[in-house]
Amino acid sequence: MQTFNNTLKKLAKVKNLNYKLTSNEKDLDSLFKILSKPQRIIKVSLPFKKKDGKLQLIEGYRIQHNNFLGPYKGGIRFSKEVDEDEINTLSLLMTLKCSLVGLPLGGAKGGIKIDPKKLSSLELELLSREYVRKIYDFIGPDKDIPAPDINTNSQIMDWMIDEYLKLSGKNTKNKSHLLATFTGKSINRGGIEGREEATGKGGEIVLELLIKRLNFKKPLTVAIQGFGNVGYNLAKFLAIKNYKIIAISDSKGGIYSKDGLNPELVMECKKERGMISGCYCRGSVCDFKKGKEITNEELLRLNVDVLIPSALENVINLHNANKIRAKIILEMANNPITDEADEIINKRGGIIVPDILANSGGVIVSYLEMIQNINKEKWKKEKVFDRLFDYLNEAVDEVWQIHERYNINFRNSSLIVAIKNLLTKIR
Ligand code: NAD
Repeated sequence: MQTFNNTLKKLAKVKNLNYKLTSNEKDLDSLFKILSKPQRIIKVSLPFKKKDGKLQLIEGYRIQHNNFLGPYKGGIRFSKEVDEDEINTLSLLMTLKCSLVGLPLGGAKGGIKIDPKKLSSLELELLSREYVRKIYDFIGPDKDIPAPDINTNSQIMDWMIDEYLKLSGKNTKNKSHLLATFTGKSINRGGIEGREEATGKGGEIVLELLIKRLNFKKPLTVAIQGFGNVGYNLAKFLAIKNYKIIAISDSKGGIYSKDGLNPELVMECKKERGMISGCYCRGSVCDFKKGKEITNEELLRLNVDVLIPSALENVINLHNANKIRAKIILEMANNPITDEADEIINKRGGIIVPDILANSGGVIVSYLEMIQNINKEKWKKEKVFDRLFDYLNEAVDEVWQIHERYNINFRNSSLIVAIKNLLTKIR
């Protein structure tokens, strides 16, 4: 599936809406042309010795989509699905996301085509450092600032920043400034409190702001696909806010309980077993007597108030769009709904909160981490989450105004805000 073209199709739809983006159509055409191609594609080949001593060349990418608003920014993922089209798509989404939430940052994305679960910790470290050596010339606090994404975490960011600082030379004067080359680092290495939970926290803030305006009454039932950094942290925050999480899954399948699941207990069980499947009635989680195992596909089709895809792209597509019954879909994963499925869900009145708004908490707190590093400060989590709220409150407000006034769905209203901000740089 060509996800980049698919995303461009979603984007192009805003031209045909009952909303005038600019008085100068030529500007809009120029912007769309610019957004349809990334500014730079860095494709690297990473030599890597396997356990049997054989040399393997691993594919890696850093795609710098657009820097109209500031230095490129975006995560790095390790996954065997990584390819140029996927990274390209994600880099475009980063350009739109940073613009929508008003950050002075552009869009980029990186990836290494590998299944990290098959690697030892030492192998992961060697590969992470090799990747930095290959992209070194193209990154830096004023050029491009990578961060974690699928299968990467603060440990990997720590190895990467360490390699970056080594390459920059021991006598580098402004080391604190250079620390801002990577975000999502551990606290000891210059990371910021709350970064780990930031994407989940952002999802909770956006959902809370929108359900109030949409007049949804709690408790609302929730199903979450993907229980990694994003899915788990969001589940924790939603449980505190009185949402009833009735289904959770990971790559190996999921569990369902109509009485609700406790995310912390499910995580405990997942850690013990290595997967969620079966956790409804094992060990300390056995109080969910009425639970049952479900597949990922069954989870997506549940009749819930809020469905939260927080794993992979394109999971809601032409094959299942007609079966999706959730009232609200909060896109915590990037691009979880294909263009065709988006149309079907919109037609039946389903509310989609788009990825560029729903999951922007991660990049917002990454930006705060950059500021903390550059100003040599240490922020408390409370301050971080307060600032996060301010950014999201403003973005939701702008999106809501367009949605209300022109009867435009949340995806298109969000794209309009993002494009309007980018247009200011084209004149
Ligand atoms: P992660 O690696 O921590 O977790 C991914 C989760 O998805 C795991 O539980 C995994 O088991 C599950 N999964 C993998 N394949 C699956 C499948 N086929 N079906 C169901 N579940 C599957 O990754 P993450 O950081 O939580 O990222 C999840 C999504 O959120 C990605 O789309 C990512 O791009 C997006 N995102 C992440 C961040 C961030 O700060 N980490 C920010 C914005 C967006």
